[in-house]
Amino acid sequence: MNLYSSYCELCPRKCGADRAAGQRGDCGATDQLRVARAALHFWEEPPVSGWRGSGTVFFSHCPLRCVYCQNYEISSGGAGQAITTERLAEIFLELQDQGAHNINLVTATQYVPAVAAALRLVRPESLHIPVIFNTSGYELPYTLHRLDGLVDGYLFDVRYSSPELARRYSRAEDYPQVAVKALEAAVEQVGPYTVASPGRRRAGSARPTHELEIDAQYPGTSRSTRPTHELEINAKYPGAPGRRALQDTIGYNSSSYRQNSGAQDPAEVVELMTSGVIIRQLLLPVPGGLDDSLQILRSTFARYGNTVCYSLMNQYTPMPQTAQRYPELARPVTEADYSALVDAALELGVTHSFMQEGGAVSESFIPPFDNTGV
Ligand code: SF4
Repeated sequence: MNLYSSYCELCPRKCGADRAAGQRGDCGATDQLRVARAALHFWEEPPVSGWRGSGTVFFSHCPLRCVYCQNYEISSGGAGQAITTERLAEIFLELQDQGAHNINLVTATQYVPAVAAALRLVRPESLHIPVIFNTSGYELPYTLHRLDGLVDGYLFDVRYSSPELARRYSRAEDYPQVAVKALEAAVEQVGPYTVASPGRRRAGSARPTHELEIDAQYPGTSRSTRPTHELEINAKYPGAPGRRALQDTIGYNSSSYRQNSGAQDPAEVVELMTSGVIIRQLLLPVPGGLDDSLQILRSTFARYGNTVCYSLMNQYTPMPQTAQRYPELARPVTEADYSALVDAALELGVTHSFMQEGGAVSESFIPPFDNTGV
């Protein structure tokens, strides 16, 4: 059975490609499901990577294709291998068997019908870990609704509030209004940001199997000492308006993630994401980039407050392919700009957030898209 339509409108491009007949859409996808990597990944936010890694599936092609994309090999280059829906379902189970804390679907929009079909093959009977949809935010609510009951959470980029920036860097002037509606649908679908604490039972009766497994595996683990980076942040902002909020604010160091080649120490891991939305904001070094990020932060916080988690990212990495045409993208973000964004979050009273301390990442951070695990 062909899962795709003869006039594709899965994403906001609505390019109308005859995917059923194998025609390639604006995103680059045809009727073939393609995946470039399926492996444990340690470079997401701590409650997603945990200590055993996030079971991350990188899908080929992308509807948004930002000019600064770090994964351009797959988003624009189309790296990857064709697989069946059944094989994708197997991959989910293999990642679970490898110890993944969750399934992390990276840029799967163009394959949502196949992804939903694969998830239906294994949920809820065989796949017990949370499923997280990792998206650029350029989504349509009706496409996300096809994932109702199949995904538990979102890593949801909100890239632009300015149509001009969205047009220049992603050919998507409609991005700001599209992302606002898509985020609304995502939050409504998966509810508030929720984590499970390894070794500690939450109030309530029904708990997912994976939490019970974690409790069994790490009995008695608890958050007895606060991570150094939190203390550093507290010291950096003594008496700041967001001081109380900082008690639940965790920074993370992208440099240390970059160096991680294996599992982290479970004692350092505080919580694991079980549902809800982490909003990701990648600060860009371009003129107006900080103002745009501040606008996104303020508007999303005004709408969702602390029911979602905020991930403020300074890991923007200049890519060789953009330097000539977009010279303003050929440098990392400044510390001053990033501090201003972090300060704004603290002043707003954000209580669930992640901040990065390592700055721009090198290309070594980008995993090899060599069909590992496919
Ligand atoms: S998912 Fe791809 S083929 Fe479908 S509308 Fe979007 S760009 Fe076109």
